[in-house]
Amino acid sequence: MSLFERLQQAGNFKLHIGGEWRDSSDGAALAVFDPATEQSVAEIPSASVEDARLAVDAAADAFTDFAAMSPVSRAEILRSAYELMTGKADELAGLIVLEMGKAYAEARAEVVYAAEFFRWYAGEATRNIGYLNTAPAGDKRILAIHQPIGVSLLVTPWNFPAAMATRKIAPAIAAGCSMVLKPASDTPLTALAVAKILEKAGLPPGVLNVLPSRRSGEVVNAMLSDQRVRNLSFTGSTEVGQLLLEQCSRRVVRASMELGGNAPLVVFEDADLDEAVAGCMIAKMRNGGQSCIGANRLIVHEAIATEFSGKLCDAMSEVKMGPGMEAGVTLGPLINEQAVRDMVRMTEECIDAGASLELGGSAPESAGYYFAPTLITAVAPDNPILSREIFGPIAPVVTFESEEEAIRLANNSELGLAAYVFTGDFARGLRISEAIEAGMVGINRGLISDPAAPFGGVKESGLGREGSHEGLHEFLETKYISADW
Ligand code: NAP
Ligand code: MG
Repeated sequence: MSLFERLQQAGNFKLHIGGEWRDSSDGAALAVFDPATEQSVAEIPSASVEDARLAVDAAADAFTDFAAMSPVSRAEILRSAYELMTGKADELAGLIVLEMGKAYAEARAEVVYAAEFFRWYAGEATRNIGYLNTAPAGDKRILAIHQPIGVSLLVTPWNFPAAMATRKIAPAIAAGCSMVLKPASDTPLTALAVAKILEKAGLPPGVLNVLPSRRSGEVVNAMLSDQRVRNLSFTGSTEVGQLLLEQCSRRVVRASMELGGNAPLVVFEDADLDEAVAGCMIAKMRNGGQSCIGANRLIVHEAIATEFSGKLCDAMSEVKMGPGMEAGVTLGPLINEQAVRDMVRMTEECIDAGASLELGGSAPESAGYYFAPTLITAVAPDNPILSREIFGPIAPVVTFESEEEAIRLANNSELGLAAYVFTGDFARGLRISEAIEAGMVGINRGLISDPAAPFGGVKESGLGREGSHEGLHEFLETKYISADW
């Protein structure tokens, strides 16, 4: 039996509230689709506002005891979750492919990455370190401690259904917070499988509650109105993030926001072009381009633009598109039909504005939400494609003449999540990294994610950081105690 069948038979594809697996209070259901076939693969309960109240009840009941649990016990739960998740990497990868579509090798890499958050935060759980100093006036001691913030609401997107969940769950557990996770309604099964792993790892009932729901707006709004919810950790689009920040403002709920990106990938004339193409293939094509840190704008020095585009075109032509589980496939379907329509429209608009289509540009007729790897060159700096998050396998190339122009083009966006720089001159790489308005920069590499590194953006890409020691503090409040002895 597959993991999917076992979890379904055990009744784990349901709302997870207070340690129980339950139906929705009003009987509503949501269908989960396989993007490779466009067929429904499961029907699961869709949470209501009443279920949201029950989930917050469970999290609030569990909070005090969990916050008081010893850090080393919480670390052991996390470490055990790491072992269990790694042990099931193959099967979990299959589940991700089923509901999200990405190529199997990438799904497996996601599971390993997702599990690493458990291992990293198993260490961080025991490193909640405060400080003590003498006040400048010498009249008292300043003692600062960090306490768990309280019931936290976690809202995640569909593009990395395992990693976006564990990147929030792991630091919340390490900090001693209880939580309600609302996964994306396109990919709820992986989140439920992660909840099952944490149950097996010994996480007390009610600490993690999972609420799949197609009524995301109402359900999240209801929880943000609840007195007991103190913190929101959101990953998703800038548009929804802005709406949730407004909702948080009503009760001054703490918010951390991992929002959209529009990453520039700058290639200088002194770069190793094969290395740059290899890095670009990862930064652009990973997850079919459906990544917030995906390279969105290829900004290439004019002296090497033709050679770079030629090599990139060759590499993109070798991509094998098909169902994620099929051997040799490196590009799966996109998440849904809307995503394919967006790619078709964006390509047309880009070409209409005067750019040249070098490769792809179309969606095949067959079943599945596919869109071919697409390379577009001679893109003018004011082409509309450069000002939006593509979130698909389209690579637009724009050229520059000077370092100043490269920086100006790179910073010409309201978003500032990731950026990539390829150059043979490391000093230049560092200089550009400092000048670029982004939360993260890769120098001569296309893959930057690491649980030990602070992940997050500037400008409209977000607030706060996930991963690293900083990620723990998204779930902690600082308390100052004034004392004299
Ligand atoms: P999305 O539409 O913003 O959805 C994200 C989550 O918010 C989902 O769980 C969604 O539920 C929920 N949601 C939607 N509308 C809501 C509302 N009115 N109130 C409360 N919750 C609501 O984003 P997406 O389409 O899933 O993901 C793509 C976006 O996420 C991209 O912009 C990408 O850049 C961003 N992203 C950012 C990061 C990062 O770390 N910065 C990482 C990954 C993705 P439903 O599924 O039910 O709509
Ligand atoms: Mg959406």
